[in-house]
Amino acid sequence: MPATGPSVLIVHSSAALRQQIAEALRTASPFEAYYSTDQLPQARQLLEQHDIDVILCELELQPAGATDLLRQLSQEDELRDIPMIVLTRNNQVEKKIELLELGAGDYVVLPFDIGELVARVKVQLKMKTTQDNLKRSNRLLLNLSSTDSLTRLYNRRMLIRTLNKEFDRSLRSHTSLSLLMLDIDFFKRINDSFGHLNGDHVLVTVAGLLRKHLRPYDVATRYGGEEFALVLPDTDGDQARLVAERLRQAVEQQTWPGEMCTIQITVSIGIASIPAADINNIDELLQRADDALYQAKEQGRNRVCHHQSAQNAATAS
Ligand code: GH3
Ligand code: MG
Ligand code: MG
Repeated sequence: MPATGPSVLIVHSSAALRQQIAEALRTASPFEAYYSTDQLPQARQLLEQHDIDVILCELELQPAGATDLLRQLSQEDELRDIPMIVLTRNNQVEKKIELLELGAGDYVVLPFDIGELVARVKVQLKMKTTQDNLKRSNRLLLNLSSTDSLTRLYNRRMLIRTLNKEFDRSLRSHTSLSLLMLDIDFFKRINDSFGHLNGDHVLVTVAGLLRKHLRPYDVATRYGGEEFALVLPDTDGDQARLVAERLRQAVEQQTWPGEMCTIQITVSIGIASIPAADINNIDELLQRADDALYQAKEQGRNRVCHHQSAQNAATAS
């Protein structure tokens, strides 16, 4: 079973020293798991397999030691922030500076006082814990600032960010991209007849249906009120129409609890896709999808309308 508390990795050629350090840490520090090895490749493996919080590594380890490990770690997003204390016999200031500049957290020259080493390890662990907490808070904040609190779907801000990214990618790689605007029909009536709480329940359920029926790389967002915008990368107009039809049917077939059990709730969906001659940026993509949604409403609701066919129909008439 993987350790849940902090872990330390000791990489040193002397088994006796590794054991001495581990024992000293065991009596004095809050580590839950101890890993040790005299080989760099095995150290790399342990780092891949376990969440290590502090590394102690010998500079003179052969054929590769602390310098190589620091270089390797600096290349990897997941590992570069693990603090390392370099253990060495080399007391030269230049070497210390070189290692600190390479990213070492600290530097301890042998023979060392074991009590001092433990104290230094604790400092590194404390910094790592603070850093981990900060990363966690940042992730949480990012999540809160990009999601809608009621439906847990992404919000409009995330929609714009996603559209910018996917629009550029689509142009660069000559692939298609579709945007679906989905609006719940006569939603005001649901609020008026069954109350705002039931209205909220409908929004959450529709959001869940979108999540369930989209592919993992599609992005579902709450555009505002009872309107959702769905970004479908690598999806042309025909494919988008099939997806939209599937969503439309899923909502239509949904049953509702309590006093809403007798009603049927439906959605109208407008689609715009690129490449298209009249869509050159994301504002135009949003506008065309909105136009198509307007057409779907005009034509009687509970239907899917694609921007190009809406345009063709207008031209034909
Ligand atoms: P249409 O078929 O033309 O789209 O009609 P509609 O009634 O759905 O559209 P309208 O824009 O007239 O009404 C939207 C309603 O959505 C009005 C607003 O009070 C309600 N609404 C917006 N946000 C929320 C929300 O978070 N919760 C609830 N319960 N209602 C909301
Ligand atoms: Mg509506
Ligand atoms: Mg609306």
